[in-house]
Amino acid sequence: MKASILTFGCQMNEHDSQRMGSLLESIGYKVEPHSTEADVVVINTCSVREKPQERLTHVLNGLKNAKKKNPDMNIVVTGCVAQQKGREIIDEYPFVDAVIGPDAEDRLVEYLREARRSGPKVDVDQQDKFSYQDTLVLEDSVSTSHAYITVVKGCDSFCSYCIVPYVRGRERSRNIDEIVQDAQKLVSKGFSSITLLGQNIARFGKENNEDLPSLLRRVSDIKGLKRLSFLTSHPKDFSSEIIRCFEELDNLCPQLHLPAQHGSNKILKAMNRGYTREDYLKVIEELKRSRVWDKLCLTTDVIIGFPEEDEKDFADLMDLMEKAEFDNSYSFIYSARPGTVAHKKYGEEQDPANRKVFVDRLARYQERQKQIAFNKNKRLEGKVLELLVEGSSQKDPDKFSGRTSGGKVVNFSSKEKLFPGSYVMVKIVKAHPTHLSGEL
Ligand code: SF4
Repeated sequence: MKASILTFGCQMNEHDSQRMGSLLESIGYKVEPHSTEADVVVINTCSVREKPQERLTHVLNGLKNAKKKNPDMNIVVTGCVAQQKGREIIDEYPFVDAVIGPDAEDRLVEYLREARRSGPKVDVDQQDKFSYQDTLVLEDSVSTSHAYITVVKGCDSFCSYCIVPYVRGRERSRNIDEIVQDAQKLVSKGFSSITLLGQNIARFGKENNEDLPSLLRRVSDIKGLKRLSFLTSHPKDFSSEIIRCFEELDNLCPQLHLPAQHGSNKILKAMNRGYTREDYLKVIEELKRSRVWDKLCLTTDVIIGFPEEDEKDFADLMDLMEKAEFDNSYSFIYSARPGTVAHKKYGEEQDPANRKVFVDRLARYQERQKQIAFNKNKRLEGKVLELLVEGSSQKDPDKFSGRTSGGKVVNFSSKEKLFPGSYVMVKIVKAHPTHLSGEL
């Protein structure tokens, strides 16, 4: 029996898909990349941007014929679009067997059985607490040595453009003791690299009188854990104490995802981000003064073309990028998400004339980002770095790829067979804007 999971969106979704994959494997399915020939097809959706939502429509239209050929196929829609649309998905695509929101995904197997017995199943109820399955240890995924642990769910920040607080619910954290126990289990099973996840992990533990630095220190202490990282930190909640952790904890990876979203105070205010460009740059200055800066891989998210963005706002954004020297930006043109404050205020459609301006600004931003990343990568040429091997090329078995502790991808050759999850030392011989080439 085969199952396939197609994942859109963020790392939280990647992690949720991993958990659902483990559940399907536990009942005998072989989980593969997306295929219209699998017996169970799960589409884990994202509603943060328009594109993934459009792709869901495209994928479901493609699956309609597949289901005609194989009526026993089960199609399940999970994730944020499932949470947002619920039964509407079944009304529009009656061949879908289940629609399951992010907080109910641990019941995937049960709902598959129910759908086979008595027709389509919808569960988009949100839970206040973490469920048992959120803490599921991924016993069957030892191949890569890397695992995720969700430590905070939901978000209370209500950025004006974002749908997450509505579909992922209020912020709630697990407690440190429980997380440490899970991390210990993972390490004892062979996972040497762990990423702690939260929509805004910088606010971890508020309701339990705990905090992110204490969590990082406790998990970092686990014997045998070589790499620890965390995602995503809201700049308004980022603290000096987290920078101290970078300086003091040897296995805390020098990687920080700090979404700026914009560089103009007018736009940051309209986005309800809760900080100014000066606040953001203050954090960057503190990072630059710290011992972690030289090896830190700093990444960000940027939205271009938010309503009322003018050339001066865009210049402020370009200036912020120059000052922060990002290694990478996940940059997109603003798209209105129904249900958000920005959608209510500014409506759906951008003026097509403005759209052209925004496409041009995005291209300018991305081009400059590429140059900055290339210059930063060039500083790594000649250095010998430890990589976590991720896999080999399908075309050439002597070609491998791995990641530095900063998260940069390095492609290198080796005559010796290497296994995903092993660590090797590689000399960086050539920098590229998006990756590095090295020699074992
Ligand atoms: S911090 Fe803002 S952008 Fe991030 S998930 Fe929360 S509301 Fe969305």
